[in-house]
Amino acid sequence: MNRHVLVINVGSSSLKYSLVDTDHGTALGSGLVERIGEPDGSVHHRGPDGDTDTAREVRSHEDALRLALDAFATHGPSLDDAGLGAIGHRVVHGGDRFSAPTLIDDELVRAVEELVPLAPLHNPANLECIQVARRLFPNLPHVAVFDTAFHQTLPPHVYTYAVPREWAEDHRIRRYGFHGTSVGFVSGEAARMLGKPLEDCRLIVLHLGNGASATAVDGGRSVETSMGFTPLAGLVMGTRSGDLDPAIPLHLHLRLGWKVEDIDRVLNRESGVKGIVGHNDFRELSRLRDEGDPDAGLAFDIYCHRIRKYVGAYFAVLGGIDAVVFTGGVGENDAQVRSASLRGLTRLGIEVEDERNRVRSREPRAVSAEGSEVAVLVVPTNEEWEIARQALAVAEAAV
Ligand code: ADP
Repeated sequence: MNRHVLVINVGSSSLKYSLVDTDHGTALGSGLVERIGEPDGSVHHRGPDGDTDTAREVRSHEDALRLALDAFATHGPSLDDAGLGAIGHRVVHGGDRFSAPTLIDDELVRAVEELVPLAPLHNPANLECIQVARRLFPNLPHVAVFDTAFHQTLPPHVYTYAVPREWAEDHRIRRYGFHGTSVGFVSGEAARMLGKPLEDCRLIVLHLGNGASATAVDGGRSVETSMGFTPLAGLVMGTRSGDLDPAIPLHLHLRLGWKVEDIDRVLNRESGVKGIVGHNDFRELSRLRDEGDPDAGLAFDIYCHRIRKYVGAYFAVLGGIDAVVFTGGVGENDAQVRSASLRGLTRLGIEVEDERNRVRSREPRAVSAEGSEVAVLVVPTNEEWEIARQALAVAEAAV
């Protein structure tokens, strides 16, 4: 079977695509279609001859996918010649129904439709692209890889909220967790770096990107994670608040008369680091801190304090750990976040070595002191590769 997989990763207003060589994890061609549904959309494509940018209206997710395929046809590599083995679709929400990647058929489409209330922005976009791709590539296996699947191993006392039983039974309200594909991938890499079977590793994985989450991984299984019913919970993020007293939105609505839609928008898009300092990019945050901006200093401290709190909590959940693993755009690149988040945890055996931590690199690496009880690892994530590998495995098993 051909070992190349086209990975389609759809957000609420963007579409990322990548033609992945599953043996090496490299992208032979990839791109990003942005601002779907707006007149000033764009297509950024990276092919064998370099990068191309095209500005144009992108009317719908279907339009976005067609533009991606056009970009392959115009700038290469040719999908016809690539010999695709499967198409892997990232699907954000699999509810409690999907704990593994699944071959897409009409029944799966119906099941993902039923989950739309749980992910109203993402699942409809995922479905639209799945349906278009199935029409355009009717002879290829299509596989759904769910962001929630990895966390289906959470035990009931972790995924159940302390609210009336009916909330879970009637409305499927429980902790789901997200970022699962990334956490699964870096856990495997971390075990390799530790030289131990994954089954014997206890890890705290910190995925710090635009969204951010912490996950306790015991023997390759997620046993606790900071995101919850939605990706709004847990760590402070670029634009999301993370954990909050649940009475605050009620107060804003009931006492101050805020509209629920406005509260929703502010907590998801105008909070987090952006809410405190006005920017959500950590490079900008770092620049402002260097200039002595007090809000930037405060935002940084809040962000790192929340991480430290979760590391301590998950240390307790796991009863000891082999490694803390940083990944995602911030986790992989921001040495100051790594060192400040883990400061003062030497009693737990966690110690970052400053010189190693400062080295910039795209390679997986250890940034803890030699012989330190707990390894501190930086592992670049590669969700596209993980989706491609899982999709191909499902496609091969289905033959
Ligand atoms: P996503 O969650 O959308 O996949 P990424 O994992 O790519 O996002 O992370 C994006 C974030 O990573 C950016 O918003 C930025 O804050 C941060 N980032 C990227 N490069 C750097 C860098 N060199 N230094 C610090 N932060 C960085």
